[in-house]
Amino acid sequence: MNNNPYSWIEESLNTIHRADWYRSVQTINSPPGAVVFLSGQKMINFASNDYLGLAADDNLKMSAIEAIRQFGTGSTGSRLLTGDRQLHRELEQAIASTKQTEDAVVFSSGYLANVGTITALVGKRDIIFSDQYNHSSLKSGGILSGGTVIEYPHCDMTVLGKKLQEERQKYRRCLIVTDSVFSMDGDLCPLPNLLDLAEEFNSMLLIDEAHATGVMGKSGAGCVEHFNCTGRELIQIGTLSKALGSLGGYAAGSSALIDFLRNRAPSWIYSTALSPADTAAALAGINIVQKEPERRKRLWENVNYLQTVVKENLGKLKILPTQSPILCFELPDAGTALEVGKYLREEGIFAPAIRPPTVPTSRIRITIMATHNREHIDKLVDSLQRIS
Ligand code: PMP
Repeated sequence: MNNNPYSWIEESLNTIHRADWYRSVQTINSPPGAVVFLSGQKMINFASNDYLGLAADDNLKMSAIEAIRQFGTGSTGSRLLTGDRQLHRELEQAIASTKQTEDAVVFSSGYLANVGTITALVGKRDIIFSDQYNHSSLKSGGILSGGTVIEYPHCDMTVLGKKLQEERQKYRRCLIVTDSVFSMDGDLCPLPNLLDLAEEFNSMLLIDEAHATGVMGKSGAGCVEHFNCTGRELIQIGTLSKALGSLGGYAAGSSALIDFLRNRAPSWIYSTALSPADTAAALAGINIVQKEPERRKRLWENVNYLQTVVKENLGKLKILPTQSPILCFELPDAGTALEVGKYLREEGIFAPAIRPPTVPTSRIRITIMATHNREHIDKLVDSLQRIS
C-alpha cells in the first residue's frame, strides 16, 4: 500500500499540467490601471474588473487612509461582537439608497455574501434552480445549503419554467439564483422573465450584481435598473471589489431579509467585519458612482468603440455575445487559448486565457475600463488582427 497519503496531490497537479489547465499567478508591481507592470513588463491591462478606474482613485485612497487613522487597520471581530462601526452602517445605507432597497448588509467579500445568503435562505427541504454558468460562489452556496440544486441551461427560460412546473410543489421553499452579468461571458440574465417565473411559482429570486454594480443602468445601480425592475421584490448580491474599487460584498433587499441575514448568515456572523479602510474606500467609491456619471459614460464609449472596431476588423474571430464591458474570443482548446494569451503578452497586452474547468470552452477574456483610451483599444485590435 502507498504509505504517503499526500502523493496524489502531485499526481493531480501533473494531470492538470498535461491538460493545459495549470494556473500560475502574474505579479503586478504597479498601481491598478489601464497600463500596469506585470512581472516587470509594461502591459495594457484588459484583465481588470476595475471598470471605472476607482481602485487607484485619490478620493478612495484618502478615505481609506483617514479611516485607518481613526479606526486602525483591523476591525478586530465579528460585527456582532466587537467589529461594528458606524462606517459599516453608512456604507450599507449608501448601497440601499443606490439600489433603492429598504436595507443592505456588507460581508467581507462577494463570495462570502453569496455563500452566506444562500445558506441562510435554503435548507434540506428546499430547492435551488441555478443557471449553468453561475459564478462559483453561487454554486458553493447551493452545495453548502444542503438543499436540492437543479442547474438549468444557460438563460433558458423555457427549460426553467418546465422544471419549476415539475419540481416546485415537492419542496418547501424555492430559490432561483443567477449572475446578472455573467462573469466569464459578459451576457445578461433575462431578469424580467426570471421575476415573472419567480412570481408564478412562489419562488425567491437572487441575482449576483458583481459585474453590474456601478456599470449597468443609468445611475450605475445595476441590471435591476437596466431592466427597469427597480422596486420589484428580489435579493441582490454584489461585490465592492470591482467597479467600486475596494474589497467586500453586500446583500440588498427588504428590511426583513437583511435583518434575517444578520441573524442567520454564517459568513456574516462568524467572520471578522470588513476592515475600516475597505469600508471607507467602498463608501467613497459608491459616492463617486452616484456623483460622476461621466466615468460610466466613458466606459460605455470605450465598450461601443471596441465592439465597432471588432466587427469591422476581426470578423473571423468567434466573439461570444455580450452586452457588458466583458468581451470573449472563443478558441478551440485550452492549448490555443494559452498560446494566444502568450502572444498577446509579447505584444504588451494583458488579456488572460480562461480555460475549463472555470468555463465550458476556452477563450481570451477582455474587460474594458473607463480609463482605457483609443490607442489602447486600437493596439489590442491590431494585435488580434494579425492572428485572426
Ligand atoms: N460573483 C461574481 C459573478 C464574480 O465574478 C465574483 C468575483 N470574481 C464574485 C461573485 C466574488 O466576489 P469577490 O471577489 O468580492 O469575492
